[in-house]
Amino acid sequence: MIITLDGPAGSGKSSTARALAKKLGAVYLDTGAMYRSVTLAAIESGVDAADAARLETISSAITIDFKDDPDGQRVIVNGRDRTLDIRTPKVEKQVSAVSAHKGVREKMVALQRKIAATHPKVVVEGRDTGSVVFPDAKHKFFLSADPQARAGRRAAQSAAQGIQSGDNLVREIMERDEKDSKRQVSPLVVPHGAVAIDNTNLSLDETIQKIIDLLA
Ligand code: C5P
Repeated sequence: MIITLDGPAGSGKSSTARALAKKLGAVYLDTGAMYRSVTLAAIESGVDAADAARLETISSAITIDFKDDPDGQRVIVNGRDRTLDIRTPKVEKQVSAVSAHKGVREKMVALQRKIAATHPKVVVEGRDTGSVVFPDAKHKFFLSADPQARAGRRAAQSAAQGIQSGDNLVREIMERDEKDSKRQVSPLVVPHGAVAIDNTNLSLDETIQKIIDLLA
């Protein structure tokens, strides 16, 4: 069983997907963390976000592993724990440009399908998981909330991890939405057959419950 959760930054996808996976005894697959990992590797190798060929090479060579942890999932990139490093403003600024490259997406999508194929139950979240990666998934959801609410959540999430957010979080979030929605390859869309949930005024528990009710 594959459940896809797509939506813009700060729509609560990650928290919802993680908690939902735990409730259902499923594996949680954070595809955004994968694009962030490629972005981090590119920055550290001095590769420009516009350099399609070198980004593809990085995407082919990179190893990304997820490790369960009581405090949340750890992200291991090329053998090192980079859980916090992939969430810094530097990575946030570049990730939309890096993830817009076709070659990068092809590698990551192949990896996502491979991971999902080895588990009976998967909750996968991202921008294109119901539209491109798993278009035939039986359960697809699209989460959204207004930009103010999303910026507030992102700031709280970063603060909890000890990462300082930039001053213009609402603007940055809206810019990233725009880039993710307008790109040519796998733009952020409500996938065909997905249930759209606006959770501006819903708590995390209410959002999860709504999804569980819809799975029944
Ligand atoms: O969800 P998260 O904020 O971690 O995603 C970071 C970025 O990765 C997004 O802004 C988007 O550019 C990219 N992404 C993507 N496709 C996905 C997941 C994330 O392009 N399936």
